[in-house]
Amino acid sequence: EKLTSKDAIALEEKFGAHNYHPLPVVLSRGEGVFVWDVEGKRYYDFLSAYSAVNQGHCHPKIVGAMIQQAQTLTLTSRAFYNDMLGKFEKLAAQTFGYNKLLPMNTGAEAVETALKICRKWAYEKKGVPENQAQIVVCENNFHGRTTTIISFSNDPIARKNYGPYTEGFIKIEYDNLNALEEVLENDRNIAGFLVEPIQGEAGVYVPSDDYLVKARELCKKHNVLFIADEIQTGIARTGKLLATCGNCSCPDRHCSGTPEVKPDILILGKALSGGAYPISGVLANDEIMEVIKPGSHGSTFGGNPVAAAVGKAALEVVKEEGLAENAYQLGVLFREELNKFIPICNIVNAVRGKGLLNAILINDTEDSSTAWDICLALRDNGLLAKPTHGNIIRFAPPLVMNKEQLLECVGIIVRTLKTF
Ligand code: PLP
Repeated sequence: EKLTSKDAIALEEKFGAHNYHPLPVVLSRGEGVFVWDVEGKRYYDFLSAYSAVNQGHCHPKIVGAMIQQAQTLTLTSRAFYNDMLGKFEKLAAQTFGYNKLLPMNTGAEAVETALKICRKWAYEKKGVPENQAQIVVCENNFHGRTTTIISFSNDPIARKNYGPYTEGFIKIEYDNLNALEEVLENDRNIAGFLVEPIQGEAGVYVPSDDYLVKARELCKKHNVLFIADEIQTGIARTGKLLATCGNCSCPDRHCSGTPEVKPDILILGKALSGGAYPISGVLANDEIMEVIKPGSHGSTFGGNPVAAAVGKAALEVVKEEGLAENAYQLGVLFREELNKFIPICNIVNAVRGKGLLNAILINDTEDSSTAWDICLALRDNGLLAKPTHGNIIRFAPPLVMNKEQLLECVGIIVRTLKTF
């Protein structure tokens, strides 16, 4: 039975919990940079499932790996070994330059895993007294939705009435090195500093050029683990393999003079599967990862054979298709083109971002509906994007886009903005 858009929306409204407020468009097919709604209308996807579909919708290599593995062996649990997991772990470890990967499923789970590893390291290696470990986090962070993670969020809607909250987190201003230095100097029990290299959900907030480098140095000086949440920024999205990459070890090198910042713990999710399957993971070297012992952490589905096959294919696609390089080039072009338009319009204040993780700031208050209305008009004109934080619209297309398509999309965006 084929549903109309109206029917599909009505079904979700009636039978699904209302934990999202989707843009009214019902998608039934995707390929590369495009998605189609149930009535057959084609759209450019400028969200990429929050940067999970970096490799493009239904990438044949990734889907092929998934189908083949799904017909062979899907799940053994980690009670036994399987013949795919090790191959994926090796590729991930070598690609990102770490000794070991701990595979999980969702981003929030990987963040939880990193927090657990960090605390355990603090007690067993650094010598922090039992139950005293503190982890420094940033204001306006987004790391997921579990009880512990929302405990250190400052988004009132994400937190309200979910208490009591998990202790052990200190919040400081993002992009403020003095605040970090002060907290590291005044507290001996700091285990780690958890940070997004660019704050995605906060509105694609790009920190100052030297922020990550200096923050990393401060952490080293104080024997504190530098933990990068690259769930949204990682895997070629920002024009480099990782947003923390400099010009030293990436296959695709682009750096604005900033050296590589190598996190002690790297958290990945989303595009680790190209959007085909929920896969996340935590990477670290042996001296940190060895605190994890059998029984101390796990997941029934984490590292299952299908996930391993999909994850391996997804990473291969990033490399084979030069997606970091493409994201870099198209990102420069995107911002250049929009910057020609912004000075002559009243509706957009600025465009910001790196690679193909960008946002425009709408000239209106946070509680206005302008950004939402613009997204509805973009939809009508064949391009899908979603506001983040009221007056900011994120633009993050699949990285398999080509130059012609990008210019066509800039055309759609500018034409749409001109009507506001
Ligand atoms: N961390 C960051 C930086 C994210 O952007 C997200 C998702 O948007 C998450 C964590 C949570 O990932 P998931 O929704 O897969 O739990």
